Amino acid sequence: MTTANKPQSLYLHVPFCAGICSYCAFMHVRYQQELVQPWLQAIARELQAENVNRQLRTLYLGGGTPSALSLAELQQLLELLQPYTGSLQEYTVEINPGTLDAEKARLLASYGVNRASVGYQCDDDAMLASLGRHHTLQQTRECLDCLRQAGITNISLDLLYGLPGQTLARLEHSLQTAFSLAPQHLSLYSLEIYPDTVLGRRGVKPCDPDLEADMYERICRELPAHGYERYEVASFARPGFASQHNLTYWHYEDFYGIGCGASGKIGSLRYDHSRSLPDYINGTEQLHLIRLSPEEERFEAVMMGLRLCSGIDRQVFRQRYGSDVEELYPQAIARLKQEGLLVDTPQVLKTSRRGMELLNSVLEEILEESGTAAEEGL
Ligand code: SF4
Repeated sequence: MTTANKPQSLYLHVPFCAGICSYCAFMHVRYQQELVQPWLQAIARELQAENVNRQLRTLYLGGGTPSALSLAELQQLLELLQPYTGSLQEYTVEINPGTLDAEKARLLASYGVNRASVGYQCDDDAMLASLGRHHTLQQTRECLDCLRQAGITNISLDLLYGLPGQTLARLEHSLQTAFSLAPQHLSLYSLEIYPDTVLGRRGVKPCDPDLEADMYERICRELPAHGYERYEVASFARPGFASQHNLTYWHYEDFYGIGCGASGKIGSLRYDHSRSLPDYINGTEQLHLIRLSPEEERFEAVMMGLRLCSGIDRQVFRQRYGSDVEELYPQAIARLKQEGLLVDTPQVLKTSRRGMELLNSVLEEILEESGTAAEEGL
């Protein structure tokens, strides 16, 4: 692979967390100092074995909780990644309040980190505690102060809604607090309760779907009124602050997935690392490889593109896949247009406002016509 056709984005998964949240289904382990050095060595091995592009455009350290690493460990990780950062436009680190101090923030900035994605979730300390989050609103404020003082001013907040016991009024309060924190970007997550989590085992019931829909609608109304434009079904940004890294996924471009629990995509090959940290550290893990058929690739490109408010660029799609998107799913697209869920122009095919709210149904209809295996996790 030449540099020109290597992936330009890299996601690195840091599996360690200071504590385990009661709803979490991500790959994570509780921070244990003795595991960090072997994990760093395995990361170094993988970066080298992958012969990663040194001209990356975006790099995203996610998790887990990258900021759960100690100052010295964080520096070691940033050092390992330094050879790949020369051309970066966006360098994001996920941070949980309570695990970042001024020194760590300065360290991140000194290595070129220019964006932080902070786990704010909500402004209610009791609710945060019931979710097993290990921070308070005050710690979120201090975290943002540290970042800004270090010069990292491009800040995204994660906002979780549909929480047990959350009312529309409580959500409204969390939104107003989020505005007062003045982030550039907000990512929305509705709480899902998976069986193999603390909440799942406790039998906590998911939010009533109608209330959840009302919450989503409220958020979608409030954010634009405060200067945040929706650019993806669950992402809002001030003009110029859309996440360049996440756009890689939604534009269905290639990206490296480095580390235990990470996934990547190179051409028609998708790969998932195992979720076993010992296997990753010992070099005995089996990557889960999925070679997509052309039909599956095209469907995934459509599925990602329709998440974006800008939709699917017809010309780009035609260049990549040799046909217009409508030629592939003529009946589903005609029906969805008739129902007002999809709209098109000579340049793009996109979801209407209502289509965005009913995105899963839109995609299911297209999936049915695509005839691809229903492995897409809609
Ligand atoms: S900090 Fe994130 S990855 Fe870690 S347990 Fe909580 S939700 Fe999961």
